[in-house]
Parts: sequence; C-alpha cells; structure tokens
Amino acid sequence: MPPRIARLPRNSAGRSVPGNIAWYGTDDDGSIPVTHDDTLGAHITCLCTPGRGTPKFGEQCPVRQRQFMVQRRCGLCTQHIEAPGQLVFIGETDAQYYLEPPLHPLCAAYALQVCPVLHAAGERIEVAVTESYTLAEDRITGMTAEGTLRRSVFPFGNPLARLLAVLEFYLAFPDTPERLPGPVWLAERAPKLPS
Ligand SMILES: [Zn+2]
Ligand SMILES: [Zn+2]
Repeated sequence: MPPRIARLPRNSAGRSVPGNIAWYGTDDDGSIPVTHDDTLGAHITCLCTPGRGTPKFGEQCPVRQRQFMVQRRCGLCTQHIEAPGQLVFIGETDAQYYLEPPLHPLCAAYALQVCPVLHAAGERIEVAVTESYTLAEDRITGMTAEGTLRRSVFPFGNPLARLLAVLEFYLAFPDTPERLPGPVWLAERAPKLPS
C-alpha cells in the first residue's frame, strides 16, 4: 500500500477510506444542511469528520469533494497533485465529466486493483489521463412532485447560478484526455505499486 494511502482512516473492517467519502456520526439525523455565502451562493454543507463515525462508501462528502476539485487534490489520498503533471479520472467508457475528484496515477493504480466495485467492472471502467481539467457546477434547481431533486449543470462561478440554485458538487471535464480501458492502463502504463 502506498504510504499516502496507509495514513488514511479505516473502516471497522480495516479498509482504507478514500478522502472524498462521507462519514456518518451516531448523532446524525440525516438532514442535509444548506447554507449561503457570497462566493458560492446557496450550497449544501456537511459537518462530517473523516475517522469519526461510519464511512458510507459510494457517497461523497460535498464539502471535501468541492475542496479537492478546486484545489487539485487527490480524491483518494487527499494530497495535492503536482502541476504540471498527469492526473487520472476513473469512470465509465467515454464519460464526458467526472463527479469523483482526480487521482494521482499511483493512487488510481491502487484503487483499480483494490476497490471491489472497480475491480468487478473490469473493461467497463475507463481511465482518462490528462494534465488539467475544467470545472462546472452541479446545482439543485428544485424538486419534482414525486420528491426527486432536479439538477442542472452551470458554468463554474456563474453569478446567476448562485442566485437560482443550490450547489452540491463540482463536475470535472478533463482537457484533451487520453482514454484507456482500466485493465489496459493498469497493465501497460500505470506506475508500479511498491511491493
Ligand atoms: Zn462531509
Ligand atoms: Zn493520491
């Protein structure tokens, strides 16, 4: 395991918990707090602390997701990704954008080998390698009669979006990415994990 990942908090089964994952405390009532400031407008916030409570794999903390996206930090190990330099997004084939923050190439290699969901998906998982990406905003614009949230994508920092909708996540659009099936990238291009 790369040292940066070994330092992450673990769940009760001893599995390292990626930095972007949401944690639930025992006092959590399940409400989704919305707050407001001049920079983001209305936005969903979160008070969770990594290592406190129970991690919910598959669910991202909106606060850390946004920090990592804006600050070019790795969604797994939480550390900055050097620039200039390569970063990796993991997703479905031909994904136009990513909801999960970028990864260090080494962290992506580790995730593809260790994460049971990614491992099981095999060839359906694609890796996008790029040096940079452009952000957009995923905002909640309302609710249907059935109680499903309506969402729209807005340009990053759009002043009207700030007034109209509630920010939850940032979306990353990789700039001129090189796309490879996960297993191919892992076998031929990925950095080798420390043994
Ligand atoms: Zn949180
Ligand atoms: Zn990393």
